[in-house]
Amino acid sequence: MLSSSIKQISRRLQSGEVTASELVENCLARAHQTKDLNAFVTITADLAREQAQQSDERRRQGQPLGPLDGVPVSVKDNFCVRGAPTTCGSRMLAEFRPPYTASVVRRLLRAGACLIGKTNLDEFGMGVGTVDSFFGPTKNVWGSNVKYKLRYKYGEPATDPPVPPRDSDEDFYIPGGSSGGSAVSVASGSSFVALGSDTGGSVRNPAASCGLVGLKPSYGLLSRHGLVPLVHSMDAPGLLARTVADAALVFDLLSAPDALDSTCVAEARTPVALAERCSARGLVVGVPREYHCPGVDSQVLDAWEAAAAELAAGGATVRQVSLPHTQHSIACYSVLNAAEVASNMARYDGVEFGFRSTEHASTEAMYADGRRRALNEVVRGRVLAGNYFLLRRHYDDYMVQAMRVRRLIQRDFELAWRAGCHLLLTPVTLTDGHLHSEFVQRDSRTNTAALDYCTQPANMAGVPAVSLPVRLSSRGLPISLQLMAPPLGERRLLAAARWLERRLAFPRLELV
Ligand code: GLN
Repeated sequence: MLSSSIKQISRRLQSGEVTASELVENCLARAHQTKDLNAFVTITADLAREQAQQSDERRRQGQPLGPLDGVPVSVKDNFCVRGAPTTCGSRMLAEFRPPYTASVVRRLLRAGACLIGKTNLDEFGMGVGTVDSFFGPTKNVWGSNVKYKLRYKYGEPATDPPVPPRDSDEDFYIPGGSSGGSAVSVASGSSFVALGSDTGGSVRNPAASCGLVGLKPSYGLLSRHGLVPLVHSMDAPGLLARTVADAALVFDLLSAPDALDSTCVAEARTPVALAERCSARGLVVGVPREYHCPGVDSQVLDAWEAAAAELAAGGATVRQVSLPHTQHSIACYSVLNAAEVASNMARYDGVEFGFRSTEHASTEAMYADGRRRALNEVVRGRVLAGNYFLLRRHYDDYMVQAMRVRRLIQRDFELAWRAGCHLLLTPVTLTDGHLHSEFVQRDSRTNTAALDYCTQPANMAGVPAVSLPVRLSSRGLPISLQLMAPPLGERRLLAAARWLERRLAFPRLELV
């Protein structure tokens, strides 16, 4: 039951086969049983129970209920939830309890969802592995000590998976990041869907590593009120779900104008409302040649080719396209990200927000000591770099240049749409995953930035993108592919993803 889709569980709630309270207890027990994975910073058990009781009461009264009513969900710990800890994975906010709730979370709760907990992340969302949290790393379920089976079709028996190799029992596969806790909470069955945030790939990357569907909507479609900012010009709330239909369903519930976020698209939305039957016929799908990048694994390339062939066999026109500035996206991101991070982090002075040092020699000394103690090396490095880029004497060379290159990257996408492409098909991650031991050994700052190669341009251009698991690698880890669409093109994007999902039939992981 805990690995079913929202649609399936919603039917069971409706038929009375299970109550919301029972479901919440099961998810809390699962979260407890898988505590070693460290998916949660905070488990909001009281809140979840209270919401479940209210949902059961509404159902008893015969009120008309939506599909999310009584369904357990989780939220990345950089979305504010009134009264609950909202740490951003940082010591800086370890004690922070916001006085208000993020708009997207409010919409989830208003739809009747029950909040199981706040999930772990790389500090302030800076990372690709969920290895850099003050609360310790999150472990992937895939290849973990937790026993699981794979089910290819609902109703068919689950089978034993290949066992991804590890040299020691202490080592583990990372879940990707930075929304790794959200991904693991859904993959392990503690929640049916989770909110993440995506600035350079932080929803799609962990979705890919955990065999889930990851949706990064168009820039500005989902409200960011109450999402602690990383990079204002790129941040997008996103979803980690088990099926494309679930992602579409929750996306439709969350997507609405919000007077509290001036960057939120003001027009009313047409719901994605996925049809039962989607088709690939008539689609024009571009395969950008620049995504054949250095370091991309041959198994990922094979999966990519196979999916393109599948689309062609289903009646789509698949053509090679060029997005010539792709290779500059990461360098450009490194500048814009650091600059925005430097200004966004300025609020954590230990006076208004954040950890307060006991250093009293001067105000400056107090700021410096608090920030040194409470921000990790990655965050401090970006603040330093960002302030360097923002210096008057450097501004033209770095900021202005990066903003120009960003326009060129956006134009690459515009030209592809104008040339008739409805969608673009690319890898998400370069490989099928990483062991923690290998990941932390790299020269992390430079090498990990490159891991966003395939996901980051979508944030640069503001286009919607979805990460879809397509097959297992030879060592038994998920391999995923990405589809991208023009801004506000979620409907076609998700319909095509759903079509591919059916054709490629990636298995669902079930704990035993
Ligand atoms: N890996 C990128 C970074 O560290 C993107 C993170 C994100 O999308 N939040 O900034």
